[in-house]
Amino acid sequence: MSTIEIRDVSVRIMHAEILIGVSLDVPSGEWLALIGPNGAGKTTILRAIAGLTPFDGTIRLDGADVARMTAKQRARTVAIVPQRPVLPPPMTVFEYVLLGRTPYIRYFDTETANDLAVARDALARLDIAPFADRQLGSLSGGEQQRVVLARALAQQAPILLLDEGTSALDIGSQQQVLELVEDMRLSDGFTVVSPMHDLTLAGQFAHTLALISRGRVIIVGGPDEVLTVEMIREHYGAEVRVMQDGEGLVVSPVRAARVRR
Ligand code: ADP
Ligand code: MG
Repeated sequence: MSTIEIRDVSVRIMHAEILIGVSLDVPSGEWLALIGPNGAGKTTILRAIAGLTPFDGTIRLDGADVARMTAKQRARTVAIVPQRPVLPPPMTVFEYVLLGRTPYIRYFDTETANDLAVARDALARLDIAPFADRQLGSLSGGEQQRVVLARALAQQAPILLLDEGTSALDIGSQQQVLELVEDMRLSDGFTVVSPMHDLTLAGQFAHTLALISRGRVIIVGGPDEVLTVEMIREHYGAEVRVMQDGEGLVVSPVRAARVRR
């Protein structure tokens, strides 16, 4: 379990200010959804937490300053599932999941029996053990998502950064992946930070939502506070209805013709 403290983080690339004074806290074992329009800076926040982009300000993971951690320490603390993972087509599922053990294997050493067991366990947990010898290029989108999650699980890092990987999946596969992440959070105590496009799903899965727009945090709170018609109009330029359905909020687009009426 790990807490994340982001304090006054700014990222500038060339002359563009990509993040401006971002401060966020994620308590141990909780799920924070980052919402906001394309280009708002959500992925950049993940890259800063993972130590993959230089930034001003401070990020602490369980009290440890990310900027002072070695690459290996960071890899043992944070697993990142990128938006478009690089999956070498000829590599097998097992070989790929075993890459999650890299931060534990010493240079010039090979994996131990424990590394192999952890990788096999990750495959079993995500129900992809029968795919172990399949080549990555032969998998469907939903299967690939599970393989990438299995690699993150094998990494045994307490913080999981999951970037909008589910947006290209059909509604069933999307739901299954998010449920798997929720299972991993509950059973292993992962702290999850995930940019999410689907606002209804964000409200269903995350404890807290942070709306990011033009590099700034606009509002942080529960679904009721953040998923409002006004917020979504102002920052996405979208007309929606927000309905309560007993389980949570449903955010549904409204046709332009009806808006005008
Ligand atoms: P989001 O994930 O919210 O869609 P990103 O964090 O990917 O947004 O990007 C935020 C902004 O930063 C975008 O305008 C993007 O073009 C810009 N950006 C991100 N990475 C780079 C980079 N390496 N060089 C220049 N601009 C970048
Ligand atoms: Mg992004």
